[in-house]
Amino acid sequence: MATDGSDPIPPHKTFDTILVLDFGSQYSHLITRRLRELNVYSEMLPCTQKLADLDWTPKGVILSGGPYSVYWDDAPHVDPAVFEIGVPILGICYGLQEIAWHFGKNVLAGEKREYGHAALKVERHGDGEAGGHVDKLFADIEDDAEVWMSHGDKLSHLPEDFITVATTSNAPFAGMAHKTKKYYGIQFHPEVTHTPKGKVVLKNFAVNICQAKTDWTMGKFVDQEIERIRKLVGDKGQVIGAVSGGVDSTVAAKLMKEAIGDRFHAVLVDNGVLRLNEAKQVKETLTAGLGINLTVIDASDRFLGRLKGVTDDPEKKRKIIGNTFIEVFQETAKKIAADAHGSPSAGEIEWLLQGTLYPDVIESISFKGPSATIKTHHNVGGLPKDMNLKLIEPLRELFKDEVRELGMNLGIPEDLVWRHPFPGPGIAIRILGEVTPEQVRIAREADAIFIEEIRAAGLYRQISQAFAALLPVKAVGVMGDKRVHDQVIALRAVETTDFMTADWFPFDGAFLKKVSRRIVNEVNGVCRVVYDITSKPPGTIEME
Ligand code: GLN
Repeated sequence: MATDGSDPIPPHKTFDTILVLDFGSQYSHLITRRLRELNVYSEMLPCTQKLADLDWTPKGVILSGGPYSVYWDDAPHVDPAVFEIGVPILGICYGLQEIAWHFGKNVLAGEKREYGHAALKVERHGDGEAGGHVDKLFADIEDDAEVWMSHGDKLSHLPEDFITVATTSNAPFAGMAHKTKKYYGIQFHPEVTHTPKGKVVLKNFAVNICQAKTDWTMGKFVDQEIERIRKLVGDKGQVIGAVSGGVDSTVAAKLMKEAIGDRFHAVLVDNGVLRLNEAKQVKETLTAGLGINLTVIDASDRFLGRLKGVTDDPEKKRKIIGNTFIEVFQETAKKIAADAHGSPSAGEIEWLLQGTLYPDVIESISFKGPSATIKTHHNVGGLPKDMNLKLIEPLRELFKDEVRELGMNLGIPEDLVWRHPFPGPGIAIRILGEVTPEQVRIAREADAIFIEEIRAAGLYRQISQAFAALLPVKAVGVMGDKRVHDQVIALRAVETTDFMTADWFPFDGAFLKKVSRRIVNEVNGVCRVVYDITSKPPGTIEME
């Protein structure tokens, strides 16, 4: 059993793995995504990775694109050992140029940049001199294929022992392959959706050329992961973790429950700024529904007490909520540990569960440039190091949609699995201005109506995030023949795939009319409803 926090059976030791070495392209992680969609496990590491430092051998290696030019003095280069481990290599864009550079120093700036769609012509060689393997990369792809390019450099000529397997009008070496070794390079990007047959190219490489097994399935991952957690924690170990009712923490918690039962202690801190009835609903779903050992701490008064009078600075709200959360969580952890000590089968609480996802891991390791230092991974949603707990991160290899799939696999209800993201500081940052119990009531009730109507209209899944915010202004209205001076609710609903950019959702007028009517009629203190039609950028998704 590993007690030092090292991972006894990481997925790259159990599944055939394609290693993606990242040269800093904005698409690098998509290569890993696409491979996993093909049920081939893949991991990404920075291009500076020394092969000798890996204690596992990939089935194949992909060199990603990147913003550099291989002939620059400070350009990043792959560890030459990659050409000695005897596995197939595919270079994509910068990766192709890197392979060419390694074998022939034959890359230079082209006269013409090539950006966008290009028509690829595949050249097949049959079983001749090159033994047939060179044609495998473009198997099941027509001779004319549409691809997407983004490059300015080009090969002056092929390196020795390579042959051309594809061309475009601007790139005579759009695809190349080594005559005897399984080394391939392509100038276009197969990982982006603008290359319609890109996934076939990646499949040809991973499955047909590298012979990687297509066994990366959630069912299998669950079994492995449960086994892994048991080994890691041991048969007495105790784990604590905060849950929020969001998909990541719920899935992580359920996985822990499956692995170690009640030795996983989930903590839900009611900070007074959760959504309407949320603490109660989360409690029901997690305990009665999923059988998770959950402690709910109602600390609303403490949070709201500290938020009183904070009117100007949204960052201050975030800090107060973050710090108070840590305080409450630590107190609760101490209590749970004290109780657990009383029980004869219990060990110390030495582990902290964290719902880190692969994009966070990638963000922390991705290659930012020859001079840039590689960021260390940000820690535990602000939990302090002096808690002296070791981290357990069962989702750290997964992308968001894989977490959802895993959630479904673990029997988590569908509407929870597809829940919109909800910020840590809760509706405190959706109440612009001072957060008081009365403002919380108004924001909550309006939000509940908005979300209820979105669900009723069948739009919840189409929308990525939606909420009602309370503006710190008053407007005049006439209600029941009486002049009122009441508050304004702003509705926000956005569509996005990555939350980096987003656009407002185009509701039809009848829908907005209904929601507005209901909010004004049912929520005391509101006399107007407006809809936020700002995209991101320049807006953000949340309002504070
Ligand atoms: N910098 C290289 C070029 O312009 C590679 C670009 C890329 O990988 N997208 O050709």
